[in-house]
Amino acid sequence: MGYKITYDYIRKGNARPGDALRGPLFAVAHDTGNPGSTARENRTYFDTQQPSASAHVFIDDKEILVIIPLNEKAWHVQYDKPKDNQLFGDDANDAAIGVELCWGGAINFREAYKRYVWFFAWLCKKYKWDPLKKIVSHKTLDPERRSDPDNALSQYGKTFAQLLNDVKKEMEAADVPKEKPQVISPFAQDAHKWVTENGISDGSRPQDAVTRQEAWYMLQKVHEHTIREVQKLLDAAKEENT
Ligand SMILES: [Zn+2]
Repeated sequence: MGYKITYDYIRKGNARPGDALRGPLFAVAHDTGNPGSTARENRTYFDTQQPSASAHVFIDDKEILVIIPLNEKAWHVQYDKPKDNQLFGDDANDAAIGVELCWGGAINFREAYKRYVWFFAWLCKKYKWDPLKKIVSHKTLDPERRSDPDNALSQYGKTFAQLLNDVKKEMEAADVPKEKPQVISPFAQDAHKWVTENGISDGSRPQDAVTRQEAWYMLQKVHEHTIREVQKLLDAAKEENT
């Protein structure tokens, strides 16, 4: 299951300085801390108010909205915090993508969470990251001041560790080939030869399900084939009698 990513960037200003991001080297998981505010509402706020704080992506139950290009800086973790440097060798603001979960109010958490997980899986694939190593919570980087996104997740019985596992699962699920191997089973090999030789089916995709219209088509072709066979017998009989 995939989702659409909408790129709708805010104007340059305090919230979007336009400086190049290093890497990116990792991603920081946030929640807005503002229950009920949607991705769109956040975009409008950052575009018009231009606070000296921002994030790249806002995700609610309807949209995955990228408001700052993923190769530009956004201000989503305080510079003087040491943890990002310890873990990743750089400041989050200079080298990380900030992803905000919108929640609460009229926002359907299940739908927003699915998009949040999917987007992190998409990011990890794009940058070839192990989600368990490259996604960090804001809380981990700034534990004295912040509790996101653990706080939002806990309102719905989820933990940050579960989030990372769900991202990993999402990545693995997307890697599983959806196509069944198209091999004809031994019991059906004669029948396959017969339907293709007699124009009843093209013989392709032996493991796929039949639609109603394909059934109609094949019934008609069997009927026409039978009439041709009967006609042949009648012609032969006629010839014998003359
Ligand atoms: Zn945060």
